[in-house]
Amino acid sequence: MGFCQKIKGTQDFFDDNARKMRFIEDVASKTIKTYGFNEIITPIFENTEVFQKNVGEDSDVVKKEMYTFLDKSNRSITLRPEGTAAVARAFIENKMYATNQQLTKLFYYGPMFRYERPQTGRYREFNQFGVEVYGPSSPMLDSDVIISAFAIFDKLGLKNIKVKINSIGNSESRKNYVNALKKYFEKYIDSMCDDCKRRINTNPMRILDCKIDQNHEAMKSIPSIHDYLTIESKEYFEKVINILDANNINYEIDTKLVRGLDYYTDTVFEFYATNNDNLNIALGGGGRYSDMIKSMINIDIPGIGYAFGIERLMIAMDNENLWGQLITKNVVTIMGLDDISKEKSLILANLLRNNEIIVEMDYINTSMKTQFKLADRTNAKFIIIIGEEERNNNVVTIKNTITKTQETVKDIDVLSYLKERL
Ligand code: AMP
Repeated sequence: MGFCQKIKGTQDFFDDNARKMRFIEDVASKTIKTYGFNEIITPIFENTEVFQKNVGEDSDVVKKEMYTFLDKSNRSITLRPEGTAAVARAFIENKMYATNQQLTKLFYYGPMFRYERPQTGRYREFNQFGVEVYGPSSPMLDSDVIISAFAIFDKLGLKNIKVKINSIGNSESRKNYVNALKKYFEKYIDSMCDDCKRRINTNPMRILDCKIDQNHEAMKSIPSIHDYLTIESKEYFEKVINILDANNINYEIDTKLVRGLDYYTDTVFEFYATNNDNLNIALGGGGRYSDMIKSMINIDIPGIGYAFGIERLMIAMDNENLWGQLITKNVVTIMGLDDISKEKSLILANLLRNNEIIVEMDYINTSMKTQFKLADRTNAKFIIIIGEEERNNNVVTIKNTITKTQETVKDIDVLSYLKERL
């Protein structure tokens, strides 16, 4: 039955769910533009190396979750699992750093693909909204990027948001920390999972992110990165925190937060929807990546970004019943009670549609009963009725389904009548 069944971990969006998704996209894009961001639209698939090199060969995303295939010319292609590496590729390939040397602020929206075990809020195709900024490292920029995400949550009506934040330091800080972690995990590693056994040599910080061993005894007293930060990284992080304080951002410092992708440095963070102070939905995350562009083209351009999951935002908004704004009644239906009235209805419908009013009509039936059903189904606010009597007098009857009143309106006044009331 594969021919009428969607692929595991994918979803169809229609009716309210399609509206909800577009609503979030619309609010997020409008809000982020006020922060000076411009949209970038990159391909859904890339050369596999784009992700292998930049997300990190040892990360779960690259090791286990990518949809990678050979095309008909035997090129290795990957459906993008995340946005940062693809946007960095586009930033470099299009030499955006040459035309816009100071600061490049980009945002994107679209589907991502990861071969993960599907469950509520976790899919194999999901949608992300994300931002990337390329320009000098600055605590004020880091804070402003976090504040911009809060502005989007706020515009969506989500008030109970917390950001977990940490510094994983610059490369010097991390070198010392990685050595300390190696030493610490050595005594536990025999009883840890195969991935961790490998990670202790390749990238011990990744162990902190392990889903299998998250409740292992070893996770209880891990050394804190904050004991290994250089003075420079420490001061940088303190400044970020002070600016978040000054802007009333609800944050929590989490010294174990390292994030799953390899490219991060210094500031890293994750956004959560909270419920009575429990962090209950992971909405998104991001951080600074100071060395990614340098490792690709040897020009020192640090970056910072975040991405959040649209399906998770939909769940958070469902939980708080925040969709009132979407179900406002603004549809008009037109009923023609005979064939000539139906022709007049279509002309009127298209006049209104040209003026951005949503109009639906029944193309076949002239009976009032069937046409009222259509009005019901489309949640119409106004029903325009045209019959022989209305036609003879150059008027229409307009019913307001909310106030349950009706008025006779001259043909030439219908547009202005509706515009004032919708
Ligand atoms: P990441 O790119 O892994 O940092 O994820 C950022 C955000 O994307 C997460 O917090 C989720 O909101 C969302 N996300 C990541 N993976 C999935 C998935 N498989 N299904 C749905 N949303 C996801």
